[in-house]
Amino acid sequence: MNQPNAITLAEQYGANNYHPLDIVLTRGEGAWVWDDAGNKYLDCLAAYSAVNQGHCHPRIVQALVDQASQLTLTSRAFHNDQLGPFLEKLCRVTGFDKALVMNTGAEAVETAIKAVRKWGYKVKGVPSDRAEIIVCADNFHGRTTTIVGFSTEPQYRDGYGPFTPGFKVIPFGDARALRKAMKPRTVAFLVEPVQGEAGINVPPDGYLAAAREICDQNDALFILDEIQTGWGRTGKLFAFEHEDIRPDGVTVGKAMSGGLYPVSAFLASEDVMEVFHPGDHGSTFGGNPLASAVGMAALDVPVEEDLPGRSAELGAWFIDRLRAIDSPHVAEVRGKGLFVGVELKESSGSARPFCERLKDAGILCKETHEQVIRFAPPLVVEKEALEWALPRIEKVLTS
Ligand SMILES: *Cc1c(COP(=O)(O)O)cnc(C)c1O
Repeated sequence: MNQPNAITLAEQYGANNYHPLDIVLTRGEGAWVWDDAGNKYLDCLAAYSAVNQGHCHPRIVQALVDQASQLTLTSRAFHNDQLGPFLEKLCRVTGFDKALVMNTGAEAVETAIKAVRKWGYKVKGVPSDRAEIIVCADNFHGRTTTIVGFSTEPQYRDGYGPFTPGFKVIPFGDARALRKAMKPRTVAFLVEPVQGEAGINVPPDGYLAAAREICDQNDALFILDEIQTGWGRTGKLFAFEHEDIRPDGVTVGKAMSGGLYPVSAFLASEDVMEVFHPGDHGSTFGGNPLASAVGMAALDVPVEEDLPGRSAELGAWFIDRLRAIDSPHVAEVRGKGLFVGVELKESSGSARPFCERLKDAGILCKETHEQVIRFAPPLVVEKEALEWALPRIEKVLTS
Protein backbone atom coordinates (compact mmCIF):
# COMPACT_ATOMS: atom_id res chain seq x y z
CA MET A 1 0.00 0.00 0.00
CA ASN A 2 1.47 3.37 -0.92
CA GLN A 3 1.83 6.20 1.56
CA PRO A 4 -1.09 8.51 0.61
CA ASN A 5 -3.42 5.53 0.84
CA ALA A 6 -2.44 4.44 4.35
CA ILE A 7 -2.59 8.00 5.59
CA THR A 8 -5.89 8.76 3.83
CA LEU A 9 -7.48 5.64 5.27
CA ALA A 10 -6.32 6.45 8.79
CA GLU A 11 -7.66 9.97 8.40
CA GLN A 12 -10.96 8.86 6.91
CA TYR A 13 -11.75 6.05 9.34
CA GLY A 14 -9.78 6.94 12.47
CA ALA A 15 -10.69 9.38 15.22
CA ASN A 16 -8.72 12.56 14.77
CA ASN A 17 -6.95 12.39 18.16
CA TYR A 18 -3.34 12.36 16.85
CA HIS A 19 -1.29 14.48 14.46
CA PRO A 20 1.45 12.12 13.22
CA LEU A 21 4.33 13.11 10.98
CA ASP A 22 3.66 12.45 7.31
CA ILE A 23 5.37 9.06 7.11
CA VAL A 24 4.22 5.43 6.94
CA LEU A 25 6.55 2.98 8.65
CA THR A 26 6.61 -0.63 7.57
CA ARG A 27 9.66 -2.21 9.23
CA GLY A 28 11.99 -1.75 12.19
CA GLU A 29 15.26 -3.25 13.34
CA GLY A 30 17.29 -2.04 16.32
CA ALA A 31 17.37 1.76 16.28
CA TRP A 32 16.30 1.99 12.62
CA VAL A 33 12.94 2.03 10.86
CA TRP A 34 11.93 1.98 7.18
CA ASP A 35 9.02 3.67 5.42
CA ASP A 36 6.85 2.30 2.62
CA ALA A 37 9.16 3.82 -0.01
CA GLY A 38 12.14 1.99 1.45
CA ASN A 39 13.72 5.06 3.08
CA LYS A 40 15.68 4.40 6.28
CA TYR A 41 15.41 6.55 9.41
CA LEU A 42 17.07 6.69 12.81
CA ASP A 43 14.25 6.41 15.35
CA CYS A 44 14.91 9.06 17.99
CA LEU A 45 11.57 8.61 19.76
CA ALA A 46 11.60 4.84 20.37
CA ALA A 47 7.80 4.86 20.74
CA TYR A 48 8.05 7.17 23.76
CA SER A 49 10.73 4.87 25.25
CA ALA A 50 8.72 1.67 24.78
CA VAL A 51 11.35 0.19 22.47
CA ASN A 52 14.47 0.78 24.56
CA GLN A 53 15.58 -2.74 23.53
CA GLY A 54 15.37 -1.78 19.85
CA HIS A 55 12.71 -2.64 17.28
CA CYS A 56 11.88 -6.34 16.93
CA HIS A 57 14.58 -7.55 19.30
CA PRO A 58 15.13 -11.15 18.10
CA ARG A 59 15.02 -12.65 21.55
CA ILE A 60 11.73 -10.96 22.50
CA VAL A 61 10.21 -11.78 19.10
CA GLN A 62 11.14 -15.43 19.61
CA ALA A 63 9.49 -15.49 23.04
CA LEU A 64 6.34 -13.94 21.55
CA VAL A 65 6.19 -16.40 18.64
CA ASP A 66 6.85 -19.44 20.84
CA GLN A 67 4.23 -18.49 23.42
CA ALA A 68 1.65 -17.38 20.82
CA SER A 69 1.26 -20.94 19.52
CA GLN A 70 1.20 -22.41 23.03
CA LEU A 71 -1.29 -20.44 25.16
CA THR A 72 -2.19 -16.75 25.10
CA LEU A 73 -5.01 -16.01 27.52
CA THR A 74 -6.59 -17.83 30.41
CA SER A 75 -7.89 -14.87 32.40
CA ARG A 76 -6.91 -14.81 36.04
CA ALA A 77 -9.70 -17.26 36.86
CA PHE A 78 -7.02 -19.93 36.42
CA HIS A 79 -3.27 -19.98 36.95
CA ASN A 80 -1.01 -20.08 33.91
CA ASP A 81 2.55 -21.40 33.82
CA GLN A 82 4.13 -18.08 32.71
CA LEU A 83 2.84 -15.52 35.23
CA GLY A 84 4.51 -16.91 38.36
CA PRO A 85 8.00 -17.00 36.84
CA PHE A 86 7.42 -13.54 35.33
CA LEU A 87 6.44 -12.04 38.70
CA GLU A 88 9.44 -13.67 40.35
CA LYS A 89 11.82 -12.27 37.72
CA LEU A 90 10.20 -8.83 37.88
CA CYS A 91 10.66 -8.65 41.65
CA ARG A 92 14.19 -10.07 41.57
CA VAL A 93 15.38 -7.65 38.87
CA THR A 94 13.73 -4.58 40.43
CA GLY A 95 14.10 -5.33 44.14
CA PHE A 96 10.40 -4.87 44.96
CA ASP A 97 8.46 -7.44 47.03
CA LYS A 98 5.35 -7.72 44.91
CA ALA A 99 4.01 -6.87 41.46
CA LEU A 100 0.50 -6.38 40.11
CA VAL A 101 0.52 -6.75 36.33
CA MET A 102 -1.75 -4.75 34.04
CA ASN A 103 -1.52 -3.77 30.35
CA THR A 104 -1.14 -0.05 29.72
CA GLY A 105 0.73 2.58 31.66
CA ALA A 106 -2.44 4.42 32.63
CA GLU A 107 -3.79 1.21 34.16
CA ALA A 108 -0.62 0.82 36.22
CA VAL A 109 -1.09 4.38 37.50
CA GLU A 110 -4.77 3.71 38.27
CA THR A 111 -3.64 0.62 40.17
CA ALA A 112 -1.16 2.70 42.17
CA ILE A 113 -3.88 5.24 42.97
CA LYS A 114 -6.20 2.50 44.21
CA ALA A 115 -3.40 0.92 46.26
CA VAL A 116 -2.32 4.11 48.04
CA ARG A 117 -5.89 5.17 48.76
CA LYS A 118 -6.74 1.76 50.22
CA TRP A 119 -3.48 1.85 52.20
CA GLY A 120 -4.48 5.27 53.50
CA TYR A 121 -7.81 4.01 54.81
CA LYS A 122 -6.78 0.53 56.01
CA VAL A 123 -3.28 1.20 57.34
CA LYS A 124 -2.78 4.93 57.95
CA GLY A 125 -6.32 5.41 59.25
CA VAL A 126 -7.42 8.31 57.04
CA PRO A 127 -11.17 8.99 57.45
CA SER A 128 -13.27 7.45 54.71
CA ASP A 129 -13.20 9.23 51.29
CA ARG A 130 -10.82 11.94 52.58
CA ALA A 131 -7.54 10.61 51.11
CA GLU A 132 -5.39 13.10 49.24
CA ILE A 133 -2.61 12.32 46.77
CA ILE A 134 -0.03 15.01 46.01
CA VAL A 135 1.02 15.30 42.36
CA CYS A 136 3.09 17.79 40.35
CA ALA A 137 2.28 20.50 37.84
CA ASP A 138 3.06 19.47 34.25
CA ASN A 139 2.71 15.80 35.18
CA PHE A 140 1.92 13.13 32.63
CA HIS A 141 0.51 9.89 34.02
CA GLY A 142 -1.86 8.79 31.25
CA ARG A 143 -5.23 9.54 29.71
CA THR A 144 -7.98 7.99 31.84
CA THR A 145 -10.59 10.35 33.26
CA THR A 146 -9.22 10.12 36.81
CA ILE A 147 -5.66 10.78 35.63
CA VAL A 148 -6.45 13.71 33.31
CA GLY A 149 -8.45 15.15 36.22
CA PHE A 150 -5.15 16.01 37.92
CA SER A 151 -3.31 17.04 34.76
CA THR A 152 -2.41 20.72 34.47
CA GLU A 153 -2.49 20.65 30.67
CA PRO A 154 -5.78 22.33 29.70
CA GLN A 155 -6.16 20.35 26.46
CA TYR A 156 -5.92 16.99 28.25
CA ARG A 157 -8.87 17.99 30.50
CA ASP A 158 -11.04 20.09 28.22
CA GLY A 159 -14.52 18.62 27.93
CA TYR A 160 -13.91 15.59 30.17
CA GLY A 161 -15.16 16.74 33.56
CA PRO A 162 -16.41 16.27 36.21
CA PHE A 163 -13.17 14.95 37.64
CA THR A 164 -12.22 12.69 40.53
CA PRO A 165 -11.42 14.71 43.66
CA GLY A 166 -8.56 13.98 46.08
CA PHE A 167 -5.52 15.31 44.24
CA LYS A 168 -3.37 18.27 45.23
CA VAL A 169 -1.05 19.82 42.62
CA ILE A 170 2.30 21.37 43.62
CA PRO A 171 5.23 22.65 41.52
CA PHE A 172 7.66 20.00 40.21
CA GLY A 173 11.17 19.87 41.66
CA ASP A 174 10.23 21.89 44.75
CA ALA A 175 10.79 19.94 47.98
CA ARG A 176 9.61 22.83 50.14
CA ALA A 177 6.27 22.88 48.35
CA LEU A 178 5.94 19.17 49.04
CA ARG A 179 6.67 19.64 52.74
CA LYS A 180 4.07 22.40 52.93
CA ALA A 181 1.42 20.40 51.10
CA MET A 182 1.57 17.39 53.45
CA LYS A 183 -1.52 16.91 55.61
CA PRO A 184 -2.68 14.16 57.95
CA ARG A 185 -4.93 12.87 55.16
CA THR A 186 -2.13 12.78 52.57
CA VAL A 187 -1.67 9.16 51.50
CA ALA A 188 0.99 9.52 48.81
CA PHE A 189 3.19 11.68 46.65
CA LEU A 190 3.05 10.54 43.00
CA VAL A 191 5.70 11.96 40.65
CA GLU A 192 7.82 11.25 37.58
CA PRO A 193 11.54 11.24 38.46
CA VAL A 194 12.14 13.15 35.21
CA GLN A 195 9.08 14.64 33.54
CA GLY A 196 8.96 13.20 30.03
CA GLU A 197 5.94 14.59 28.23
CA ALA A 198 6.43 18.00 29.87
CA GLY A 199 9.67 18.33 27.90
CA ILE A 200 12.35 16.26 29.68
CA ASN A 201 12.30 18.27 32.92
CA VAL A 202 15.11 17.14 35.21
CA PRO A 203 14.53 18.11 38.87
CA PRO A 204 17.33 19.55 41.03
CA ASP A 205 19.82 17.02 42.46
CA GLY A 206 18.60 15.72 45.80
CA TYR A 207 14.91 16.21 45.00
CA LEU A 208 13.98 12.53 45.15
CA ALA A 209 15.97 11.99 48.33
CA ALA A 210 14.26 14.98 49.94
CA ALA A 211 10.86 13.70 48.82
CA ARG A 212 11.66 10.29 50.31
CA GLU A 213 12.44 11.92 53.66
CA ILE A 214 9.37 14.18 53.62
CA CYS A 215 7.09 11.21 52.85
CA ASP A 216 8.64 9.23 55.72
CA GLN A 217 8.18 12.11 58.16
CA ASN A 218 4.51 12.43 57.19
CA ASP A 219 3.59 8.75 56.98
CA ALA A 220 2.82 9.09 53.28
CA LEU A 221 3.80 6.70 50.50
CA PHE A 222 6.33 7.77 47.89
CA ILE A 223 5.28 6.52 44.44
CA LEU A 224 7.36 7.08 41.32
CA ASP A 225 5.97 6.82 37.81
CA GLU A 226 8.88 5.24 35.89
CA ILE A 227 6.77 4.22 32.91
CA GLN A 228 8.96 6.33 30.62
CA THR A 229 12.16 6.69 32.70
CA GLY A 230 12.45 3.01 33.66
CA TRP A 231 14.39 0.12 32.10
CA GLY A 232 17.59 2.07 31.54
CA ARG A 233 16.33 5.22 29.84
CA THR A 234 18.06 7.73 32.15
CA GLY A 235 21.31 5.78 32.60
CA LYS A 236 20.22 3.58 35.52
CA LEU A 237 17.70 0.73 35.45
CA PHE A 238 15.40 3.10 37.37
CA ALA A 239 15.86 6.86 37.65
CA PHE A 240 15.48 6.69 41.46
CA GLU A 241 18.84 4.87 41.63
CA HIS A 242 20.56 8.17 40.77
CA GLU A 243 19.74 9.29 44.31
CA ASP A 244 20.24 6.01 46.12
CA ILE A 245 16.71 5.85 47.45
CA ARG A 246 13.81 3.45 47.10
CA PRO A 247 10.20 4.52 46.66
CA ASP A 248 7.39 2.52 48.28
CA GLY A 249 5.99 1.76 44.86
CA VAL A 250 6.71 2.34 41.20
CA THR A 251 4.64 2.18 38.03
CA VAL A 252 6.28 0.60 35.00
CA GLY A 253 5.16 -0.08 31.44
CA LYS A 254 6.36 0.90 27.98
CA ALA A 255 9.77 -0.87 27.58
CA MET A 256 8.65 -3.57 29.97
CA SER A 257 7.74 -5.54 26.82
CA GLY A 258 10.28 -3.99 24.46
CA GLY A 259 7.36 -2.64 22.45
CA LEU A 260 5.93 -6.01 21.40
CA TYR A 261 2.84 -6.08 23.56
CA PRO A 262 1.20 -3.84 26.16
CA VAL A 263 2.54 -4.89 29.57
CA SER A 264 2.55 -2.68 32.67
CA ALA A 265 2.74 -3.14 36.41
CA PHE A 266 2.59 -1.55 39.79
CA LEU A 267 5.55 -2.73 41.86
CA ALA A 268 5.50 -2.18 45.60
CA SER A 269 6.60 -3.28 49.01
CA GLU A 270 4.61 -5.99 50.75
CA ASP A 271 2.94 -3.62 53.24
CA VAL A 272 1.38 -1.65 50.36
CA MET A 273 0.40 -4.55 48.11
CA GLU A 274 -1.18 -6.52 50.93
CA VAL A 275 -4.16 -4.13 50.91
CA PHE A 276 -5.49 -5.97 47.85
CA HIS A 277 -7.72 -9.01 48.34
CA PRO A 278 -9.43 -11.24 45.76
CA GLY A 279 -11.99 -9.24 43.82
CA ASP A 280 -10.58 -5.80 44.77
CA HIS A 281 -8.99 -5.12 41.39
CA GLY A 282 -8.29 -6.90 38.13
CA SER A 283 -7.94 -7.02 34.36
CA THR A 284 -8.95 -9.67 31.80
CA PHE A 285 -5.64 -9.45 29.96
CA GLY A 286 -3.40 -8.46 32.89
CA GLY A 287 -0.74 -11.13 33.54
CA ASN A 288 -1.73 -13.29 30.57
CA PRO A 289 0.76 -15.95 29.43
CA LEU A 290 1.71 -14.13 26.23
CA ALA A 291 2.39 -10.88 28.11
CA SER A 292 4.34 -12.78 30.75
CA ALA A 293 6.54 -14.62 28.24
CA VAL A 294 7.23 -11.39 26.34
CA GLY A 295 7.87 -9.52 29.60
CA MET A 296 10.37 -12.12 30.81
CA ALA A 297 12.38 -11.92 27.59
CA ALA A 298 12.17 -8.11 27.53
CA LEU A 299 13.47 -7.89 31.11
CA ASP A 300 16.60 -9.86 30.27
CA VAL A 301 17.73 -7.44 27.57
CA PRO A 302 18.46 -4.29 29.65
CA VAL A 303 20.41 -6.40 32.13
CA GLU A 304 22.37 -8.57 29.69
CA GLU A 305 23.07 -5.83 27.13
CA ASP A 306 23.77 -3.23 29.84
CA LEU A 307 21.26 -0.76 28.43
CA PRO A 308 21.52 1.52 31.50
CA GLY A 309 25.31 1.71 31.03
CA ARG A 310 24.98 2.43 27.31
CA SER A 311 22.38 5.11 28.04
CA ALA A 312 24.58 6.82 30.65
CA GLU A 313 27.68 6.83 28.46
CA LEU A 314 26.13 7.66 25.10
CA GLY A 315 23.70 10.13 26.68
CA ALA A 316 26.40 12.21 28.38
CA TRP A 317 28.43 12.32 25.17
CA PHE A 318 25.38 13.10 22.99
CA ILE A 319 24.21 15.94 25.28
CA ASP A 320 27.71 17.46 25.14
CA ARG A 321 27.73 17.29 21.36
CA LEU A 322 24.26 18.82 21.11
CA ARG A 323 25.29 21.65 23.45
CA ALA A 324 28.28 22.34 21.22
CA ILE A 325 25.97 23.14 18.28
CA ASP A 326 25.91 26.90 17.80
CA SER A 327 22.27 27.45 16.92
CA PRO A 328 20.24 30.66 16.94
CA HIS A 329 17.16 28.60 17.84
CA VAL A 330 18.23 26.56 20.87
CA ALA A 331 17.43 27.87 24.36
CA GLU A 332 18.61 24.83 26.33
CA VAL A 333 19.75 21.21 25.95
CA ARG A 334 18.92 19.07 28.97
CA GLY A 335 18.53 15.45 29.91
CA LYS A 336 19.72 12.39 31.73
CA GLY A 337 21.17 9.46 29.81
CA LEU A 338 19.64 9.12 26.36
CA PHE A 339 16.58 11.04 27.51
CA VAL A 340 17.28 14.41 25.96
CA GLY A 341 15.24 17.54 25.32
CA VAL A 342 16.30 20.41 23.08
CA GLU A 343 14.22 23.42 24.02
CA LEU A 344 13.79 26.02 21.31
CA LYS A 345 13.61 29.74 21.88
CA GLU A 346 10.16 31.30 22.01
CA SER A 347 11.07 33.34 18.93
CA SER A 348 11.89 30.22 16.92
CA GLY A 349 8.29 29.04 16.99
CA SER A 350 7.00 25.49 17.29
CA ALA A 351 9.27 22.44 17.32
CA ARG A 352 7.03 20.78 14.74
CA PRO A 353 8.67 22.21 11.57
CA PHE A 354 12.07 21.26 13.00
CA CYS A 355 10.83 17.68 13.46
CA GLU A 356 9.55 17.70 9.87
CA ARG A 357 12.97 18.83 8.60
CA LEU A 358 14.69 16.22 10.79
CA LYS A 359 12.45 13.59 9.21
CA ASP A 360 13.53 14.73 5.75
CA ALA A 361 17.12 14.35 6.97
CA GLY A 362 16.45 10.75 8.08
CA ILE A 363 15.88 11.32 11.80
CA LEU A 364 12.53 10.70 13.48
CA CYS A 365 11.68 12.95 16.42
CA LYS A 366 8.46 14.30 17.83
CA GLU A 367 7.88 17.67 19.37
CA THR A 368 6.79 17.66 22.97
CA HIS A 369 5.14 20.65 24.58
CA GLU A 370 5.41 22.73 21.41
CA GLN A 371 8.93 24.06 22.06
CA VAL A 372 10.93 20.92 22.85
CA ILE A 373 12.45 18.33 20.51
CA ARG A 374 12.92 15.04 22.33
CA PHE A 375 15.84 12.75 21.46
CA ALA A 376 15.30 9.32 22.99
CA PRO A 377 16.53 6.63 20.60
CA PRO A 378 16.40 2.91 21.42
CA LEU A 379 19.17 2.25 23.96
CA VAL A 380 20.78 -0.31 21.63
CA VAL A 381 21.66 2.57 19.27
CA GLU A 382 25.25 2.48 18.03
CA LYS A 383 27.49 5.47 18.69
CA GLU A 384 28.16 5.53 14.91
CA ALA A 385 24.44 6.06 14.30
CA LEU A 386 24.41 9.09 16.60
CA GLU A 387 27.61 10.34 14.96
CA TRP A 388 25.84 10.04 11.62
CA ALA A 389 22.86 11.96 13.02
CA LEU A 390 24.72 14.87 14.68
CA PRO A 391 25.73 16.84 11.56
CA ARG A 392 22.20 16.37 10.21
CA ILE A 393 20.71 17.64 13.46
CA GLU A 394 23.16 20.54 13.39
CA LYS A 395 22.09 21.45 9.86
CA VAL A 396 18.41 21.53 10.86
CA LEU A 397 19.05 23.48 14.06
CA THR A 398 21.22 26.11 12.37
CA SER A 399 19.27 26.66 9.16
C1 LIG B 1 3.35 6.98 28.66
C2 LIG B 1 3.22 7.29 30.08
C3 LIG B 1 2.08 6.90 30.82
C4 LIG B 1 0.87 6.24 30.18
O1 LIG B 1 1.15 5.04 29.55
P1 LIG B 1 0.09 4.45 28.49
O2 LIG B 1 0.64 3.08 28.18
O3 LIG B 1 0.10 5.36 27.30
O4 LIG B 1 -1.22 4.41 29.16
C5 LIG B 1 2.07 7.15 32.18
N1 LIG B 1 3.10 7.79 32.78
C6 LIG B 1 4.20 8.18 32.10
C7 LIG B 1 5.32 8.83 32.84
C8 LIG B 1 4.29 7.97 30.73
O5 LIG B 1 5.36 8.40 30.06
